[in-house]
Order: sequence, then structure tokens, then C-alpha cells
Amino acid sequence: MSLIENIIRPEIRSLSAYHVPDSAGFVKLDAMENPYTLSEDLKQQLAQRLSEVAMNRYPVPSYTALKQAICGKLGVPAGYEVVLGNGSDELIAMISVACAKPGAKVLAPLPGFVMYAMSARFAGLEFVGVPLAADLSLDKEAMLAAIAEHRPAIVYLAYPNNPTGNLFDKGAMLEIIAAVGDTGMVVVDEAYQPFAQDSFMPLLPQFDNLLVMRTVSKLGLAGIRLGYMSGSAALMAEFEKVRPPYNINVLTQAAAEFVLQHVDVLDAQAAQLREQRGKLATALAALPKVKVFPSAANFLLIRVENAEQVFAKLLEHKILVKNVGKMHSLLENCLRVTVSTPEENAALLDALAASL
Ligand SMILES: *Cc1c(COP(=O)(O)O)cnc(C)c1O
Repeated sequence: MSLIENIIRPEIRSLSAYHVPDSAGFVKLDAMENPYTLSEDLKQQLAQRLSEVAMNRYPVPSYTALKQAICGKLGVPAGYEVVLGNGSDELIAMISVACAKPGAKVLAPLPGFVMYAMSARFAGLEFVGVPLAADLSLDKEAMLAAIAEHRPAIVYLAYPNNPTGNLFDKGAMLEIIAAVGDTGMVVVDEAYQPFAQDSFMPLLPQFDNLLVMRTVSKLGLAGIRLGYMSGSAALMAEFEKVRPPYNINVLTQAAAEFVLQHVDVLDAQAAQLREQRGKLATALAALPKVKVFPSAANFLLIRVENAEQVFAKLLEHKILVKNVGKMHSLLENCLRVTVSTPEENAALLDALAASL
């Protein structure tokens, strides 16, 4: 046996590393980033703040001021605490580690966010994927049957879902939360909440097994890596134990505290993107043989006749989107495109019209 076979777990050896394509020189519409930045004035103020940060000191791991800003500005119900993560990716990893009892399972609809399955495997949990219905809605009966069969410790429901962009039926989700009961918890992933304008956060007091997870990434701060989650105090106390104590660095902490004081700027950007989403959807649907799926996120899922070919032609036009056509049979010939500025959306439309 080789060194690698001796020491690395087979389920890790069989994976490939998360691939991020080089986007230099491209109009980047593949990763749901917010195209807008802060004003020059706010950038100056932020630079001043960051220059005063004590980078020689460890962060204070209670993160009291940052947590207060998040709870106060982002709709966390009164009396609820948040646990912070280095992006929600780290929160997902923390949840997996804390719940990785022998034989424990993670369940989520497919196609869905890939990190749920990846993180489950990293932690030695079994992942159960339940296909969505043909129209990409939640297959409630299949979900309830799979929950009864597998009794998962963790169920992930992204609201809205990535890569499909739709909001699942809220009533069906509530039935799932009830069916999971006290043998598991339901994590509602609201990464796209600023674009959905609907949330399970206000429902936290009704369900002990509900956890709501969010990130500032899609809101315009993907680079600083900050996610947060909230749920019952008892659950949060357990997840705090597996959180690396200094996981939010002092620059992220200072930047987030500053930007949250100006959250109206990010809200206005989200409103612009929601407006652009409607315009882009209409324009895309007017192209020949393009189907646009409904979206409550800052991206659109579209179906074309030959996604492979269209994706390659868009690359020639220096437009980078995500080809999700091979991800799941329900997504055959589908591309996922980020909603961006009017200029970048127009560039996408022109290139797409020339690529079909
Ligand atoms: C982008 C995304 C995340 C990841 O967020 P980070 O905070 O940047 O790690 C989580 N969940 C879903 C559904 C996403 O699309």
C-alpha cells in the first residue's frame, strides 16, 4: 500500500477537489457575486477603520459587538443568539462534525447545494439525496418517505434553492420540520434571503429543531467570509463547542461591523438586483428556445438546446456562467447565470443571442 492509501480515508481519495475556474478577463456571472461595491466615501471610512484594527492581537472570541450588529440589523428574533462561521461553508462543516454519530445521516433534496453532501462525507456521515419533482419543486411525499425511512439527524432545505433558484413551498417545509421531529433538525439555508424577501427566521420560536443559516456573501461581502446561524439556545450552545475559537478574523469582524452600520446600502443594491432579475428573466425568455425558471435568488436557471455548446461559445465571448447541465438529470442542458448590473446583463444577452 502507498503512503496515501495507508493514511487517507477512501471516501476522501475518491473525491476531487472543489474546482473554481480562473475567471481573469471574464465577465464573471458564475458565482452569484454582487457586482456593486461601496461608495468611495464609505471605502475611505472603512479603510480608516481597518487601519486601526489591532492585527497583532487575537480576536476576542465572544464577538459580542458583531453578533449584536447581526441580531439587530438582520432580523434575528429577540432572545436568539447567533453562531458565526468563516462563511456558511464553515457552519455546515461545524454542524456535520457535531452531529457525526456513527450511522447518522444527512438528507437534502437534489439538485441542491453541493457542500451539504461534501461536508457530510468529510465528517463520515451518510448523505441521502431526494430528487426534486420534475418541475424542480420539493417532492414532499418523497421527502416524507425518505425521512421516515432514514431518520436523518440533519435535513438541509435551501430557501431559495441553489442551483434552481426557486422557493420551496413553505407549507411542505413546515410539514417536513414537523415530520423530522426530535430525531433530527432542519437547517433552512437562507444564503439568498436578501433576494427572496421571505424567511424562516421569525418561525424559530415555534420549532426547537429548526435552524436558520445565512451568509453575507451574496449580499455583497463574499470576500470577507462571514456566515451566521440561529436556533434554539440549547442547539447553539452545542455548535459553539465545535467552532474554532478565532474563526472570524479581526479584519472581517471590523469590516462587517462597519458595513452593517450601512446595511441600507446593501439593501438598496439587493433591490436593484431584484429589479434587474425581472428584466433579465423577461429578456432571456424572449430568446429562441430558452426556458427561464422562476427565481427568488440573484441568479437565473435557464435551459437551452445544447448547454455544453452554448457554455463554450459564451466563454469565447468572455462571459463565464455555470454549466450545471451535468450536475443532475433534472438539470439537463441548464445553465446558471448570476444577475448583475444592467451593462453586464446586456453583455450576457448579446453573447447568448450570438451563441444559441
Ligand atoms: C453560496 C451559498 C452558500 C455559501 O455561502 P458562504 O457563506 O459564501 O460559504 C451557502 N448556501 C447556499 C445555498 C449557497 O448558494
